[in-house]
Amino acid sequence: MATIYYDQDADLSYLQGKTVAVLGYGSQGHAHAQNLRDSGINVVVGLPETSRSRERAAADGFEVLSVAEAARRGDVISMLMPDHVQKGVYEEYVAPELKPGKVLMFAHGFNIHYGRIVPPAEIDVTMIAPKSPGHVLRDLYRQGIGVPALIAVHQDASGQAKQLALAYAKGLGCTKAGVLETTFKEETETDLFGEQAVLCGGVSHLIQAGFETLVEAGYQPELAYFEVLNELKLIVDLIYEGGLKFMRYSVSDTAEYGDYVSGPKIIDDRVRETMHQILQDIQTGRFAQQWMAENDAGRPNFSRMRQEAQQHPIEEVGERLRAMMPWLKARQIPS
Ligand code: NDP
Ligand code: MG
Ligand code: MG
Repeated sequence: MATIYYDQDADLSYLQGKTVAVLGYGSQGHAHAQNLRDSGINVVVGLPETSRSRERAAADGFEVLSVAEAARRGDVISMLMPDHVQKGVYEEYVAPELKPGKVLMFAHGFNIHYGRIVPPAEIDVTMIAPKSPGHVLRDLYRQGIGVPALIAVHQDASGQAKQLALAYAKGLGCTKAGVLETTFKEETETDLFGEQAVLCGGVSHLIQAGFETLVEAGYQPELAYFEVLNELKLIVDLIYEGGLKFMRYSVSDTAEYGDYVSGPKIIDDRVRETMHQILQDIQTGRFAQQWMAENDAGRPNFSRMRQEAQQHPIEEVGERLRAMMPWLKARQIPS
């Protein structure tokens, strides 16, 4: 059974009189900065001079410093810029400011687990990884609910690393929902596997393949869109609220029977074997290496695949249909 920490296990006083430097003000950064501040903790924000996020952080009332200056001021330094830039930012601006007693924090284990960042032994290195995008972390904090998070300790130089991380989690509101104990290794590998095999890679390609199968067979793209994409939201809501068994209870017996007989044909032994290979590439670090090399090369393949994916016919149909369903609050990628 997982160890789960709640409000009574965490003490905000571990952060009293300390300054948290939030480096990055994107999805996670803005939510961490604002939730911690509302919990009575002293927060400064660190961003490059050229950052587009500076204006937003300043408008939200934060003292916005250079990354180096924020790292200097912070007793706790929270690395909330994109994973692929963290190594560079760490080496240039953060490492020179690390003094014994400081705490380096992450919201994802990638850079520590794959050895891209190797902090000195005299500092604490911990992770609080909220299990939601930043805007949900912020919204649920304001509603007094909080989102669940993971906690991990990579280095405990002070002897208080876990208590400090738990205090940080409490400041985010996460101990209201529950904070599960893990390791950097487990968090990183399961997070990457989940997003690749199921959440992002698996689901999006399942949707596209289903859409293509129907359209190639001569069915109207609009119907295909409704059947394989739009309805997914309703199914996922049922699964989220009551598990697979509640979804199967809610759909028709015909749908449930089709689930049992056709599902295993889609997710067959070949797919399971591929899942194993994907997991192995994550465990050996091969995926991480490939992704960082792609960044170093200026993202040629990533940019091409993104562009190709955005031009898939399902996107054009979807855009038209979503415009006819104002209640679902259609969204666009900001330019
Ligand atoms: P975002 O991409 O949303 O935000 C990036 C922020 O970092 C922006 O403010 C950006 O500024 C700034 N930034 C970019 N480059 C630098 C730099 N060189 N130095 C300092 N700041 C920089 O990131 P996320 O919030 O998604 O991710 C942050 C961390 O949180 C990652 O480790 C991620 O894995 C983790 N995480 C993310 C979750 C999510 O749902 N998004 C969930 C849980 C964990 P600018 O506007 O100028 O680009
Ligand atoms: Mg992830
Ligand atoms: Mg149906």
